[in-house]
Amino acid sequence: MLATLLPPTPTVHAEPTRVTLLRLQDGLYAARADNAEASRANAGEVVPTLVHVTGNGVLVVDPGPHARWGDRLIAAIRHITAEPIRWVVNTHAHPEHVLANAAFAQLQPRPAFLASAATASLMRQRCESCLARLTAMLGERVMRATQIVIPEPALRDGDWLHTGKTAWQVHVHAAAHSASDTVLYAPQRRVLCVGGLAYRQRVPDLQEGSLLGWRQALHALTALPAGIVVGTAIGTPAQTLQPTLAYLDALDSAITHAIESGVDAAHALDYVPGNAYRDWRNFHPRHAFNVARAWRELEDRWMQNAPSA
Ligand SMILES: [Zn+2]
Repeated sequence: MLATLLPPTPTVHAEPTRVTLLRLQDGLYAARADNAEASRANAGEVVPTLVHVTGNGVLVVDPGPHARWGDRLIAAIRHITAEPIRWVVNTHAHPEHVLANAAFAQLQPRPAFLASAATASLMRQRCESCLARLTAMLGERVMRATQIVIPEPALRDGDWLHTGKTAWQVHVHAAAHSASDTVLYAPQRRVLCVGGLAYRQRVPDLQEGSLLGWRQALHALTALPAGIVVGTAIGTPAQTLQPTLAYLDALDSAITHAIESGVDAAHALDYVPGNAYRDWRNFHPRHAFNVARAWRELEDRWMQNAPSA
């Protein structure tokens, strides 16, 4: 008797849930992803992959962390269009953005995989260790069938990627969030796709970047007319580019002041506590890492610029 009163037992799915494509504009979508650093809890599914159905084939920017996500993303794309997936762009050489290339490499016809020369070369050098690291973090099961697919070094700063009616302008920023960060900009749509350069309510990751270069890149990006930014999260420039820049500016001015006052690096966090950003995701431990990284960069620059005794 009791059994009839209980709600039906939910089916336990061994497979992960579907990828949802959020519609941003006509033909333009972004995958729903966790706004957080990659972890076992989110299976590394933290990149809101941009999908553009151009009328002349589909453009995919930053396909994601592994083949399993890539396969589900392809299924979601097939749900909205029968157009072939023609271009896959890798904005920068971080594993959670690029390792899902593996799923797209299985497609017939095979799409073109595109990146800046620096990103392609970094992926050639590092993807193997990045794959091993992500596998250690997320587990073998999640990373199954994920192989490294190196993009062509085809994207140059100032180039245009012509896709159907929309042309995307390519901007390549050297040493910003990473050693090379590619941005795609569609002026007629006022859309910026910026890879790892913009965060929303989350502490940015400066570990392999340059404070100076990243601030310069964001200054250039905030000057562009745009309504939508797709970075590590989706939002307006005021929700993404500007707060990311404000955080980096705050790091820069506080650390510069501390170095000029003769503060020792061992006390860095006391001088740059980042109180205004404590409610951002991944504040612990990312902010402390950023302070250490930025401190080294600014101290090097300060030593180079200091008049010799
Ligand atoms: Zn990144």
